[in-house]
Amino acid sequence: MTLEIGSKNGVMSLLKARWLQCTVVAVLALTWWRGEGWLSDLRRLDEGAIGERISAEAEAAKQAVLLPLTIDVIVGANDTLEVIFRKLELSVTDLASLRALPDLRRSLDRLYPGELLKFGVRDSELVSLERQLSPSETLQVTREADGFESEVIVNPLERTLRVGEATIRNSLFQAAGEAGLSDSLALRIADIFRWDIDFVLDIQPGDRFRVIYEELSQDGTPLGEGDVLAVEFVNQGTVYRAIRFEHGEIAGDASLQDDGDFGYYTPDGKSLRKAFLRAPLEFTRVSSRFNMFRRHPVLNRIRAHRGVDYAAPIGTPVKAAGEGRVRFIGNKGGYGKVIEIQHANEVRTVYGHLSRFARGLRQGERVRQGEIIGFVGMTGLATGPHLHYEYLLRGIHKDPQKVALPNDRPISASRLGDFKAHAAPLLTSLENGQISPALLARVAPPTSTGTAGR
Ligand SMILES: [Zn+2]
Repeated sequence: MTLEIGSKNGVMSLLKARWLQCTVVAVLALTWWRGEGWLSDLRRLDEGAIGERISAEAEAAKQAVLLPLTIDVIVGANDTLEVIFRKLELSVTDLASLRALPDLRRSLDRLYPGELLKFGVRDSELVSLERQLSPSETLQVTREADGFESEVIVNPLERTLRVGEATIRNSLFQAAGEAGLSDSLALRIADIFRWDIDFVLDIQPGDRFRVIYEELSQDGTPLGEGDVLAVEFVNQGTVYRAIRFEHGEIAGDASLQDDGDFGYYTPDGKSLRKAFLRAPLEFTRVSSRFNMFRRHPVLNRIRAHRGVDYAAPIGTPVKAAGEGRVRFIGNKGGYGKVIEIQHANEVRTVYGHLSRFARGLRQGERVRQGEIIGFVGMTGLATGPHLHYEYLLRGIHKDPQKVALPNDRPISASRLGDFKAHAAPLLTSLENGQISPALLARVAPPTSTGTAGR
């Protein structure tokens, strides 16, 4: 069909062919680059979006040959520095020399999903790297003539102690809002007491709380709330108190590693943490309680309901109630997609009607307390989306809402004196509703390089 008349047309078709060839090569290269470097690492949709963003930025980086370009990288769930270097097509040799710098390995090795890294790149070469180590510390690495140099820029935070208190009329958030506290602080309070109080079921109008917390600012700019130092929650007349304490010595207990090196304790040094979560998902409403003689809504006959149903939208994350090992994961009759976890001391928990499982979770695998194992659905015999949750002790079903949950370890005898001394002014402040002079004295602004509030 191609008509080649004379030399001019011949040249044109040759050019056309070349152009086509180039386009194909470019498309292939792009597909390879994206597929290989990016998409295979992306596990979730939102990370996908981030990946796309990084890839677009990296593309721009490749085009800007001379100008140094700042690339903001939001760390994904499975990203390591090495993975990110590969994604940005940066030299692995540079990474090795970065890691060889004293102290740098420690401050770069563990990345957190969602955190931001700033890469300065020129002509596929790393020229700078910035990472926020803490709200007051920024690590800056720059390429000098004789290699990389690093420094930590310190911009200290000012901490002011505050007391907040509120009475609940309809929700914890409403009460916190009226007291001028953020939703995030309300969530943290709920989190501290989550082993004793089911914030889904147990909260009643008239419940109240009082909290001692830090308010942070930097160069006069408010940065929101810092640590919760102590909190009291009165739930249906029962008083619960929690004191934040850096336990240090309990290190070595893997189940505590998530909490860093501090925990919340009762005034007499018992851990508020239990070996199990009361509810394996957050802030939903319970549609069916434990009941041995319930009429089954689908089968329409009396059938013991040996668990709790938590009504929740499809896709709500479901967490492992405690540390353990996956005993079963798959489909099982009326349960639909179900996970069973075997815990220590012959406790077993069951999570039914799931829409899907956490990616990669397999039978025999270890899970930690609070780890997301699946998502709410309505597979199996279910009339609507909900989580069916069971708690079994030595093979016998217990009411998950009422069963006595085993506590975590208390403060060690050797540190109990320290703890009591630490707790005393906090408890006085909680009682009086104002920061006690003793507590103020302890967190007075440091005169030189002292650390406040410890
Ligand atoms: Zn159920």
